[in-house]
Amino acid sequence: MLIAEQRVARLGCCRDNQPYVVPIYYVRAEGQVFGFSMPGRKIEFMRSNPLVCVEIEHCTDQHCWKCVIIEGRYHEFHKETDKKHAWNILKVYNDWWDPGALNLGSDAKPPGYLPVFFAISMDSVTGREATLV
Ligand SMILES: Cc1cc2nc3c(=O)[nH]c(=O)nc-3n(C[C@H](O)[C@H](O)[C@H](O)COP(=O)(O)OP(=O)(O)OC[C@H]3O[C@@H](n4cnc5c(N)ncnc54)[C@H](O)[C@@H]3O)c2cc1C
Repeated sequence: MLIAEQRVARLGCCRDNQPYVVPIYYVRAEGQVFGFSMPGRKIEFMRSNPLVCVEIEHCTDQHCWKCVIIEGRYHEFHKETDKKHAWNILKVYNDWWDPGALNLGSDAKPPGYLPVFFAISMDSVTGREATLV
């Protein structure tokens, strides 16, 4: 299944009628899409409007591609146990990102630099694919 196979998605969020799209790494687990981020614009967008979409694709060539759109709701983990649970899911692929920024055990960084862990519910999933026959 495309969502389980891929690791990079485009996350779409919207605040005050202004859309914002960024690539993110993700893991699908427990019926949700898990991700993480440092504080910044996308997190502020999703905190103010938790309705988001996630686009995942795989393109072999111009005639052969798959694309899935997930619509769902942003949920941010605040409890340390929940953050660690999310990190345990994400860290299977921990060579993705700056490991220093994601070192949950480090006290060296100011609070603003702590990563934000989140999950997006999969309320609706649609997709298309093209194959050259
Ligand atoms: C293939 C790919 C995968 C990616 N995967 C991820 C991913 O999994 N997670 C992810 O977050 N990004 C990922 N990125 C980068 C992402 O697409 C954005 O470009 C980036 O996260 C900046 O988004 P932002 O909305 O936070 O931007 P901005 O708000 O412009 O922030 C830019 C950066 O400044 C820093 N920053 C901003 N405000 C603060 C603050 N208050 N305190 C501390 N630091 C701050 C953060 O590092 C932030 O990411 C990926 C990019 C690519 C190409």
